[in-house]
Amino acid sequence: MDKFTYQNPTRIHFGDGQISAITNDIPQDKKVLVIYGGGSIKTNGVYEQVKAALSEHNWGEFAGVEPNPQYDTLMKAVEKIKAEGFDYLLAVGGGSVVDGTKFIAAAAAYQGEDPWNILAQQHPVESALPLGCVLTLPATGSESNMGAVVSRGKDKLAFMTPKVQPLFAVLDPTTTLSLSPRQVANGVVDAYVHVMEQYLTFPANAKVQDRFAEGLLLNLIEEGPKALATPDDIDVRANIMWTATQALNGLIGVGVPQDWTTHMIGHELTGNYGIDHARTLSIVLPAVMKERREDKEGKLLQYAERVFGITEGSTDERIEQAIARTVAFFKQMEVPTSLSDVELGTADIDILVTSLEKHGMKALGERGSITISDSRAILEAAL
Ligand code: NAP
Ligand code: FE
Repeated sequence: MDKFTYQNPTRIHFGDGQISAITNDIPQDKKVLVIYGGGSIKTNGVYEQVKAALSEHNWGEFAGVEPNPQYDTLMKAVEKIKAEGFDYLLAVGGGSVVDGTKFIAAAAAYQGEDPWNILAQQHPVESALPLGCVLTLPATGSESNMGAVVSRGKDKLAFMTPKVQPLFAVLDPTTTLSLSPRQVANGVVDAYVHVMEQYLTFPANAKVQDRFAEGLLLNLIEEGPKALATPDDIDVRANIMWTATQALNGLIGVGVPQDWTTHMIGHELTGNYGIDHARTLSIVLPAVMKERREDKEGKLLQYAERVFGITEGSTDERIEQAIARTVAFFKQMEVPTSLSDVELGTADIDILVTSLEKHGMKALGERGSITISDSRAILEAAL
């Protein structure tokens, strides 16, 4: 295990009715911009609860942050902030709204010429507006981490800085009851892949992180299908919500190697073809497991044994079974597991590889050893 410094500064308010906690978490003297998406919060009661909690605050709103938040939309919020003097942001929605709000927070305080360079050139973020969030879709972990992903046309890029980590996050599982089965499944799969990308590398003798990661995976395998079968079960929703937060709040990733290849290739699939984020991951991860099995052999065997109880057979057989069980879980969650499942084929691989090259994704993986031609092989294995 490598040395690390760990702090997660996001205050979490978990449970039914906790939206009211934002009253005290946002200072009274702030002018708050409430940022949300396409309107789900207007039909499931979340907007009304936020309004009630902010009744003593000076606040305004910005609606219309789309899934895979678009730069041009977010810059309209930045203009509004500058014109009207907002100095605190409250994101209310899924990962796209939280990520979009993180970018808005950084872009509103950006001193350079073009805020897109925060993403394209990875310009350092010197300061950002303070933000909090009310999460309505358990998936990304964005509610208590420092990352955000923003799209501009076909370019889908990420940035990370502690300056945009939410100061607080409200996680009320009852707000997730209005999610469609598709979004529930997407969330479970995104969280699963987040755990895998911090776990399935080479062994680092990090026993806390490993056992914690395996526990999170087991929760998702147990609770995910229940959320589809019995959508009204609030205990299931609560466990999924807390699991998804823990999957990417930094804890299981400290002191261990990480491999974000699946996410990086997945971003190209969303950027070029508009496929839902999680559905790109369920296509790419099994192919990464197949193609990188030598690099990941020790951890693949550990995963096979501890997550699926696979102990019989040769090394190859156990790894094959672990990959097959992963694919079976994704299929149970009704997400695609190959490029052909989303009607993509060999011709599309050239487009995806060109995008990866354009975005500098030339040294992926826990060892930085996954080249562009390795990514091509991964995409071919995903056909
Ligand atoms: P999302 O894109 O935020 O939301 C998907 C859809 O779900 C939207 O149409 C939204 O509608 C709807 N929705 C949200 N909450 C709802 C509710 N309670 N009831 C009914 N509908 C609801 O989905 P997401 O999976 O959370 O976020 C995906 C984005 O996060 C991608 O861009 C991905 O790349 C990024 N991501 C970020 C991180 C990170 O660490 N920062 C990690 C992984 C992925 P409305 O717009 O109407 O609300
Ligand atoms: Fe993700």
